This record gives sequence, structure tokens and C-alpha cells, in this order.
Amino acid sequence: MGEFDLIARYFTRPAQRALLGVGDDCALLQPRPGTQMAISCDMLVAGRHFFADVSPQHLGHKALAVNLSDLAACGARPLAFTLALALPAIEDAWLSGFSQGLLALADAHGCELIGGDTTAGPLNICITVFGETEGQPLLRSGARPGDDLYVSGQLGDAHLALQAMLGRIELPPELLAQVRLRLERPEPRVALGLGLRGIASAAIDLSDGLIGDVGHVLKASGVGATIDGSALAGLMAASTHPMWATLTGVGSAVDHVLVGGDDYELAFTAPPSARQAVAQAADRCGTPVSRIGVIEAEPGLRLRDTQGQIVTPQLSSFDHFKTASTPTIPHPAVDRSFP
Ligand code: ADP
Ligand code: MG
Repeated sequence: MGEFDLIARYFTRPAQRALLGVGDDCALLQPRPGTQMAISCDMLVAGRHFFADVSPQHLGHKALAVNLSDLAACGARPLAFTLALALPAIEDAWLSGFSQGLLALADAHGCELIGGDTTAGPLNICITVFGETEGQPLLRSGARPGDDLYVSGQLGDAHLALQAMLGRIELPPELLAQVRLRLERPEPRVALGLGLRGIASAAIDLSDGLIGDVGHVLKASGVGATIDGSALAGLMAASTHPMWATLTGVGSAVDHVLVGGDDYELAFTAPPSARQAVAQAADRCGTPVSRIGVIEAEPGLRLRDTQGQIVTPQLSSFDHFKTASTPTIPHPAVDRSFP
């Protein structure tokens, strides 16, 4: 099989909403009148963002999920995506698993694959998503002093799974399987993002760790915040609490939630007058949300620790070019080429 058979077999389906899908030099999308196009791009590199032997279904799912999560953070409705793929070799089983995981999530969100690029090389997946916003999109820059700070879902599972897979902590097999799913198969909070339009004042998705991601909102909005450490601790699955204590040298469980990445939950702000509307939006899409802090005029991020003391956390989130605490994921050398 060559490049074009591969595209035809695994990545070509009839266009749905797009005017033109896979097969020509460009795809064509027709924006609906009165809407704006929201565009985001995320790349997943083997050994950097995932273990090279991860299940291909999960990898296909995650590659799109992290992009849909960006649309969710802007309150955008998914429309379409392109897929740029570098593959060390054409392996049928791998490609069919990958495309199944990818396209199942795409179908679940009505987001069609409209094009891409395929090349031989070290495993690398780059997706660009296109979404639609109507009216005021959710931005990082809208948080105001007095707003509540919320996050969706639970935090920390994915980080715990990564620590276990890096051999730094031992988890009971059942718990490992559970948190590993959260690392490898995150569910993007698209419905919540859509439901928060017109309610939230600012939003971001949590990919690199809460402290850094919320920090982006604070900086873009020109504000600060105090986060409640007990509320954060309450967002970690109860079954994981005793596990964190066994991980030494990296601080408390709350520290882990502050720096741990890969949650793909939403962090957002809204004025206290919107509390009922936030609760209703969360109910409607079946995604729990929790208030974890308050936005303040004084810049910076402060933490009220579990003893009630206000501290300034000396921690930073993941940064590909800076972070020493989260090493590159080891992966087997990839030296195969296209047949
Ligand atoms: P070009 O040479 O004009 O860039 P290509 O030969 O790379 O076009 O691709 C042929 C068609 O297949 C294009 O429509 C392109 O968008 C699509 N395509 C290539 N790779 C993928 C992929 N991984 N997934 C979906 N569509 C793809
Ligand atoms: Mg090309």
C-alpha cells in the first residue's frame, strides 16, 4: 500500500457539511452567515506527548480530543478538521485502530475530516480543527475582579497515570487502568463550552497544568486570583488520595493538581450573579463544575492552603522548552521507513 491507497482506505469519507472534503488541493467550508470560524492546531509527537506503544484507538481519539478541547474553551461548535500524519511505516492494524478511534470521536461531535497530509517519518500527528462561534466567543481575556473561578470535572487522574507509567509510583492495577483512560482518552468538554456562551466571562482548557493555564487567563485579563486548596483537593478522585502520598519529592497532592497536565477540563470565570446559570449549563450537559476560587484585582495567583494560610505557589506548569520536572516520555527508537 502507498500513500494514496492509505488516504483512500483510512481517511476518506463522503463530505457532509463541507462543500468539498478529501481529494482535491483544498477542502472547502462555507461559514454560515453571522458566524465566525474558530481555528486551532495541536501536534502530538511520539515520545513527547504519548508513549509510542499506546493503543492506536486511544491515540486517534486523543489527537482529535485535544483539538476539540480548544474549541470547547472558546465556546465553538466543531465543524471539520485536517490531519497531518508522519508515519514510520504503513501498518494495517495500527492504521485501522487509529482511524477508528479518531473518526468515532469525530462522528460523536459532527466534526468531519476534510483533508490533510501524509508522509513517512517519526510518528507525529498534527490536527487543525475548524469550529463555529456565534456572538461573543469565550476568550481568556474576559475575567473581572469579583468573578468566581470554576473548573469542570475532576483533576489529577491523567497526571497520576503519567507518574505511574514513568515508573515513579505504583498503582493498584484497577486504579491504573482507570486513570490511564483519563490520560489516553480524554473527553473534550464541548457541550459545556457551548453551554457557557453568554454566561462565562473567560475560559481556557487545562492541558499543561492548572497553575499555568489559569495563569494565562489572569495575564490576558490583567487580574489575579486566590485559589482554594481544599476545593482543589476535593477535585481529585477519592481513590487517588492515598496514592499521592506515596509519590515523594514533588510536594503535596494539591501541588500535583496545580502542575499536572492532560486533564482537558475547562477552567472558566463568571460573575457571582451567574451562579445559577452556570449550574444549569453544567446540569444540561451532565458535566459537574466546581468553584475553586475568586478573581481579584491584584495580579498574581495565590493559594489558600488547607490550613487557611495564603501562599504564593512556587510551581510552574509544563513548558516543552523549560520544564525539567516532567521528562520526555521514553520511547523505542523508530527507524522503520515506508516500504
Ligand atoms: P497535495 O499534494 O496537493 O498536498 P496530497 O497528495 O498531499 O495533496 O493529498 C491528496 C488529498 O488527500 C488532499 O485532498 C489531502 O487533503 C488529502 N489527505 C492527505 N493526507 C490526508 C490524511 N492523513 N487525512 C485526510 N486527508 C488527507
Ligand atoms: Mg500534500
